[in-house]
Amino acid sequence: MSEATYGSAFFRSWLERTAAAVDEQADRLTELDSAIGDADHGANLKRGFTAVAADLGTDTTATPGALLTAAGRRLISTVGGASGPLYGTLLRRTGKALGEAPEVSRKELAEALATGVAAVAQLGGAQVGDKTMLDALVPAAEALGTSFEAAREAAEAGALATVPLQARKGRASYLGERSIGHQDPGATSAALLITALAEAAV
Ligand code: ADP
Ligand code: MG
Repeated sequence: MSEATYGSAFFRSWLERTAAAVDEQADRLTELDSAIGDADHGANLKRGFTAVAADLGTDTTATPGALLTAAGRRLISTVGGASGPLYGTLLRRTGKALGEAPEVSRKELAEALATGVAAVAQLGGAQVGDKTMLDALVPAAEALGTSFEAAREAAEAGALATVPLQARKGRASYLGERSIGHQDPGATSAALLITALAEAAV
């Protein structure tokens, strides 16, 4: 088995691909949020990741940890809503966990991502099954220990699995049983983030 490592070019590619996917899927995310929320999730994330991509500029010297930490801070300052602090915390804490290493292995990234996901769970007080982004992020971080492709599959399966759930956190929880039968917008965008990660690795 080769011990591939991933440096700043890979992390820039991940963030750029995420920004492109969010831009392309913004209407769909907003449509999902209009069913069980307030119809702003696509616009929120598009604003945030457009700013993150603009920050990337041409500086190729930042470490993976620094790139993710800066992206997380940018999301916190631009996105607003529930998802801004949550996604911001995810990237900031994942970046912090990567430290200052110029290159990281997939397993190191999996561990760092698990740290970031745990920080999201702590901040939002949610767990798997509450019909939130965690339903995609928790299984994805775990599956990343196996492969990038396994992480992508786990995130997509996790997002789909939110359809029959009743929301217990966030705005969608105000709907009670009426939240059942709709895919969670945040779990859907989380699957875009992890899909972009898997595509950056190809
Ligand atoms: P808002 O709900 O403030 O309008 P967004 O529409 O941008 O924010 O994001 C909604 C998404 O945020 C939800 O679909 C859900 O996945 C996620 N979310 C909301 N509350 C929580 C929470 N407490 N923990 C984890 N994720 C949450
Ligand atoms: Mg919303």
